[in-house]
Amino acid sequence: MIVAANFKTNKTRKETVEYLKELEKIDFGNVKVAVFPPQSALIEDELIGAQNAYPTMSGAYTGEIGLEQLNEFNIKRILIGHSERRHILGESQEFIAKKFDFFKNNNFEIFYCIGEPLEIRKKGIEAVVEYLKGQLIGIDLEYEKLIVAYEPVWAIGTGVSAKLEQIQETHKEIRKFIKRPILYGGSVKLSNIEDILKIENVDGVLVGSASLDVEVFKEMIKKAKEI
Ligand code: PEP
Repeated sequence: MIVAANFKTNKTRKETVEYLKELEKIDFGNVKVAVFPPQSALIEDELIGAQNAYPTMSGAYTGEIGLEQLNEFNIKRILIGHSERRHILGESQEFIAKKFDFFKNNNFEIFYCIGEPLEIRKKGIEAVVEYLKGQLIGIDLEYEKLIVAYEPVWAIGTGVSAKLEQIQETHKEIRKFIKRPILYGGSVKLSNIEDILKIENVDGVLVGSASLDVEVFKEMIKKAKEI
């Protein structure tokens, strides 16, 4: 099982250090735990991954960080293709694939996000699968450090997760072309994590809002341990 926390634009460096100190008090068992803090809170710790970076060692990319900055903290894990970067920051599939290649070539563990907007979900599962395949163009699905996160856009940050049947059906479809771990993300909470983790072809969760409280996140890891 994999349980990952995406802080987005929340928490300071000090808060992140305290969070990790608290988190590391518990035994993770065989659960792989990952924490993605904002760039200003990157810390050298095996749990930490970057929410984003530019596919470059260094250079003239104002506002971005590159491999040189990640190397300072020994970061070897990155989130790519998150819906907020696709839809709010306008990252194209072509650019996302370029980023994927760069970090793959640098041996990073890549948490790669895909997910459909509501208007596609309303058209049914076939349209969803077709849309998700479009978000995988240019991505090496055989990469041994790839972890896919299925995150329906309409379930992210809304407090309303996808229905268990929708998660089950979609993960089953994704499994047909992805053999690597598949996480679910989108309003995962303490009240639904157990049911979600028990679904076939769900190998873990990517948690946004609910991960911000370290006590809640610890409980989530404990629940994942028991499954
Ligand atoms: C996310 O942003 O990856 C996410 C799943 O957010 P939330 O849990 O808040 O829906």
